[in-house]
Order: sequence, then C-alpha cells, then structure tokens
Amino acid sequence: MANVMIIGAGGVGKVVAHKCAQLPEVFSEICLASRTVEKCEQIAAKLPRKIDIAQVDADNVGETVALMERFRPDMVINVALPYQDLTIMDACLKAGVDYLDTANYEPPDEARFCYKWQWDYHDRFRAAGRMALLGSGFDPGVTNVFCAWAKKHHFDEIHELDIIDCNAGDHGHPFATNFNPEINIREVSAKGKYFEDGKWVATEPLSISKTYDFPEGIGPKKIYLMYHEELESLVRHMPEIRRARFWMTFSDNYLKHLEVLENIGMTRIDPVIYEGREVVPLKFLKALLPDPGSLGPVTKGRTCIGCRIKGVRDGREKQYYIYNICDHQEAYREVGSQAISYTTGVPAMIGAMMMVKNIWRRAGVFNMEQFDPDPFMDALNKYGLPWTEIFL
Ligand code: NDP
Repeated sequence: MANVMIIGAGGVGKVVAHKCAQLPEVFSEICLASRTVEKCEQIAAKLPRKIDIAQVDADNVGETVALMERFRPDMVINVALPYQDLTIMDACLKAGVDYLDTANYEPPDEARFCYKWQWDYHDRFRAAGRMALLGSGFDPGVTNVFCAWAKKHHFDEIHELDIIDCNAGDHGHPFATNFNPEINIREVSAKGKYFEDGKWVATEPLSISKTYDFPEGIGPKKIYLMYHEELESLVRHMPEIRRARFWMTFSDNYLKHLEVLENIGMTRIDPVIYEGREVVPLKFLKALLPDPGSLGPVTKGRTCIGCRIKGVRDGREKQYYIYNICDHQEAYREVGSQAISYTTGVPAMIGAMMMVKNIWRRAGVFNMEQFDPDPFMDALNKYGLPWTEIFL
C-alpha cells in the first residue's frame, strides 16, 4: 500500500490518475498536484474514488518539497513537462521520495534533450537510498522494456533496432498535436539522429523516410526518421547494438502545416518583442491550437508502436517484431483520453507499481531496460496494453 503523488494534470496525468485510482490495493492514497488546480479538480471529479488535489509550481523546489512534506508520498510520478524534471528530482532528494518520469529533461530555451542532466543525479539518489526511474511512458518506456524482453528471451545479441511509432488515428482538426504542442513541435522540428557503428549520424529534420506496412489492417504508412531519447540509453545499456533508429508516421497534412508554421517563424522558441512585450511564438501557437486533452472524444483509429529487431541467437541470424496496438476510442471509453495519453499513462502507472511493490528496486537513477522485463510485460497485458510478437 503506497501513497503516490502525481505532478501534472494534463492528458497523461489524467490517465495516470485513473489507472492508479483503479488499484486501491497498490496505491492506497493519491494526490494529484499541478500548476492549475482546476484541472486537478476536473480529473478528480471523474475518478472512481476520492483523491487529494493540490496546487504546485514544480519549477519551485521549496514549494514542491513543502507539498511532499504535507502529503508524505512514497513516490512522485512526474507527468508535468520535461522542463520540470530536475526541480522535481531535487525536491524528491530533499524530501526523501522516489521519482518516476516519462520524458527526459529539456532546458526551456534550447530544443535539446539528453539523459546526461538526469544521469548526473545517480550518485545523489544512490547515497540517499532513493530510486529514480526515467522514461516510463511508451516511447521511451515500453519500447525499452520490449528490447530488454527480446534480449532476455530471444536474442544473444541485438544488432539492429528500429523503433517505429505509428498513430493511425484521425481527430478531424486541420492541425493539432496529440500531446503537449510545444514539446511535440520542438521534437518534430529538431534535427534527426541515429546510431551506427559506434557513432551518432545527424540528419536534417524529417529528411529520411520510407513506407512501412503496419500489421492488423493498419497497412502501409510513410515513416520519418527522428531522434528519440530511448536510443541514447539503449545503446549505452546494450553496447552490442550496431544500428539504432527511431521512426514516426506523420500525415502529409500535418507536415504541410508544420512546414508553413516553421517558414513563418511560428515554431521559434526564442522570445520576440510584440507590442512592447516578449512573446515566444511557439508558446503563443500552443495557446491557439486545440488542447490535446480535448481530442479524446473526437479521435478515431489506432496507434501501433513497436520494435523491429535483428540479431543473433545460438550463432544464427534472427529477425523479430514486437508491438502494441491501442484503439483511441476504447482508451477514451475507459479513462476519457485518447490513445497517445493512454499509452503513456498506463506504463507510468505500471512503472510506479514496480517500484512501490519493490519488484524493481535499486538506489540510484535508472532506465527501464536495466530491470527484469518479465513482470512489466505481464502487467502490460493485464492493465490495457497487450503486445504481440512476430518472428520474421
Ligand atoms: P500536457 O501539456 O497536457 O500536461 C502537462 C501538465 O503539466 C499540465 O497540466 C501543466 O499545467 C502541468 N505543468 C506544467 N508546468 C508545470 C509546473 N511548473 N508545475 C506544475 N505543473 C506544471 O502534457 P501531456 O500530458 O501531453 O504530457 C505530459 C508529459 O508526458 C510530458 O513530459 C510529455 O513529454 C510526456 N510524454 C511522454 C510520452 C512517452 O511515450 N514517453 C508520450 C507523450 C507525452 P497547466 O495545466 O497549468 O498548463
């Protein structure tokens, strides 16, 4: 029985709150805290049991520590924005609380994400006897666990890895992002990067693409090479990997809008002076775009996210594909959110469950692939994200 504090009452926070509330035997008490307390109230009102709510600015370490001292959580599930990762980790160290997140730290003024900032907390968490689990969403998160599972059960060595993320859903808007628009557009408009023969190879944004035929009737879709954070931890923890790439589908319509927005400067993250005050164009654009949380009732179709792996077993070359398919409307019926928030929030709850039940337990800062994948894989089947594996 554990007390859990969820920070961030957005699309993902809503799913985490629902999934934790469904398991009172694991998460006996829940506090949902966020910058705008009204969003916590709205989520709490729809849950199957009563939870605490609180207002917190997680950029402020002192305020966050004070809240933790009041509620005394065993752990924090951070589903605010990546900008808050370090301040929440600092607060956890001060209050003696375990930590979990779904996205790695990004400095607000620089569209660059890497694990170094958070890995640098390892010794402090270890000395405090506390655990931090990084990237417990779908990608990163489940994709890392898929790799650990493949390595444990099907391969002696993984040589080539392609993580492929498909959203074959449609929300009917001319342009909308299915998670936080600022984080999404920063990620998509950044340069690509993949790992090959011990080196990182940089690519122009979305300049490499191909068609991939997705399973179970989803069919062929164009996928684009991007950089994604789990590549960094996977090549570190599985040093035999020779090539690792990440791919995502985008519709022509999404890309057309993105190109125009970029061309006219609306995706800039540096402040411009407008009528005497500073405005960050991308933050202003976020205020105009549909709130991803509002897409739940209108999004139809499915997501398919998985890993294609080439490697060797008993000296023979082998190819393998493991994936999950998630239906937007089924997710909405269960927790009131579309599949992108669902596929992130369910693994966040499962990661937290692994920690509070001491199934995954070490002192320090860790990525998902560093733990035994089996209990997590069982929990995916049990709590709404069943997976399928194909031997090619
Ligand atoms: P939203 O923008 O919907 O929600 C973010 C929430 O965090 C909002 O409620 C926001 O408050 C709150 N917040 C922002 N700043 C602060 C602060 N300083 N203090 C307290 N609360 C704050 O985002 P999502 O729910 O879509 O995404 C949440 C996280 O999940 C992001 O980090 C995202 O990168 C990650 N993610 C991970 C994925 C994965 O597979 N690993 C996939 C998708 C998302 P307010 O309401 O006031 O704005």
